[in-house]
Amino acid sequence: MSKSEHKLNDVRVVIIGAGMAGILTAIRLREYGYEDFVIYEKADRVGGTWRENTYPGLACDVPAHLYTYSFEPNPNWSHRFAPGPEIYNYFERVAKKYNVLDKIRFNEGVPHCAFENGKWKIRTSTGREDEAEVVIAATGVLHHPKIVNIPDMDTFKGACFHSASWDHSVELNDKRIGVVGTGSTAIQITSALAGKVAHFDLFQRTAQWIMPGPNELYSEADKAIFRADAQALDSLRAQLDKDFQHFANAVIDADSQEMKEIENACLANLETNVADPVLREQLRPNYRAACKRLIFSPDFYTAIQRPNTELITSGIKHIEGEGTRTNDGVLHELDVLVMATGFHADSFIRPTTVLGRGGISLDDVWSDHPVAYLSISIPDFPNFFMLNGPNGPVGDFSLIQIAESQVSYVLQLIGQIRAGECREISANAKATASFEATRAAAAKKSIWATGCKSWYLDKHGVPASWPWTPSRFFEEMASPKLESFDQIG
Ligand code: NAP
Repeated sequence: MSKSEHKLNDVRVVIIGAGMAGILTAIRLREYGYEDFVIYEKADRVGGTWRENTYPGLACDVPAHLYTYSFEPNPNWSHRFAPGPEIYNYFERVAKKYNVLDKIRFNEGVPHCAFENGKWKIRTSTGREDEAEVVIAATGVLHHPKIVNIPDMDTFKGACFHSASWDHSVELNDKRIGVVGTGSTAIQITSALAGKVAHFDLFQRTAQWIMPGPNELYSEADKAIFRADAQALDSLRAQLDKDFQHFANAVIDADSQEMKEIENACLANLETNVADPVLREQLRPNYRAACKRLIFSPDFYTAIQRPNTELITSGIKHIEGEGTRTNDGVLHELDVLVMATGFHADSFIRPTTVLGRGGISLDDVWSDHPVAYLSISIPDFPNFFMLNGPNGPVGDFSLIQIAESQVSYVLQLIGQIRAGECREISANAKATASFEATRAAAAKKSIWATGCKSWYLDKHGVPASWPWTPSRFFEEMASPKLESFDQIG
């Protein structure tokens, strides 16, 4: 009898995180007949980034019908780019519908896991000890807020918080609001608040290119059609996918014609929609469009030109009790200061301690920069898999589509253990090194490497992203090349 004819082995799976990818993993595990799994979630609700980010104007800049599980279409999205609360409700609803909630241990994070004697030993924040063959890190990408240290911040008398920890107890209408940063978050906050509060200051260190495009509203008639006709919804999704792939194919080749078209659209947006020549120059970036994560906004330029709204470009010298003092000596009086200063994009599962074979620490393995084979598996960390891990497709893809393909890939790897083909499986060192070298070389040809600072870049200035087409990624995910893996036992 060959190994594969053995009865299926019991495989227990621990999932860390009940956001988009954790919910998805639970649903897929069940579908494949796994019942012995648990999700540890540090918070008291599902939703990940959509639970934590609640700032005014929050929306997803990936079209909603693409940012949707393939098995759970949603005919009721209100807009082409859905608002954050709608997305949060979607995940909560899906988690309930697929009975994922009863598998989640809320308010229980995982600070420590170690591979010992062929199993993962998991210690949770409540002191629980668990044991499993497999750990799946569904811990998200932009998760750890970057708290910047501007001199004398603690002297500010008003409310001050990071965009990812919005303080909703602070009434905004009659307040003077300052926002630091010009990333996707700050731009969305600006569109939502500028002109609608007593005064709005946007503190810009680096100008951003803005890709125009309407945020189409789906009418009740549209939604009725989508509800009645699954094919209409499928066609819409297919069209959005095609458009998005066009964009994803453009940014990986800085010299492509498609990239030129994107740059022209951003330039025309700036030239046409910013009336004041001084403001227009302040808003003109000195690097190529899409070098930083490209911002899609139908209304940022309108917002920044509203009454009682100012773009401040002279740089913050320090904070005072009454507001921010900029390098030109001006005090900008504020009641609320929002730090839209981004996230530590290279943390992934950390600060969780992850110890692989022989006690090797993930933090040590990643001391230069995070690396994983196909962004999923790490040599000597057997049966430990990451969803939306390092150097994967971020930024120009729907992370749901990515996670779906990664989960099906991981299920095939776990299938090897379940079928008794091996007890331990992890990418081998040679395949990982070769993948990373090829990836880094290709990434240097992308638009992200054309001379700007962004969270896409690792500490060597190399874009930490998938540098090839979406099709290549999905082909790669279709089935694991088992020769790239060490299988033991
Ligand atoms: P971000 O893109 O990293 O932007 C951070 C901003 O803070 C930058 O403008 C940066 O300036 C500024 N900043 C950082 N440290 C500073 C300092 N010490 N002094 C002054 N300014 C400082 O962060 P984000 O806007 O939160 O967006 C992060 C990512 O989250 C996005 O790129 C996107 O992938 C995702 N996101 C997505 C959506 C969506 O619609 N799907 C919405 C929001 C966020 P510099 O440019 O000069 O460094």
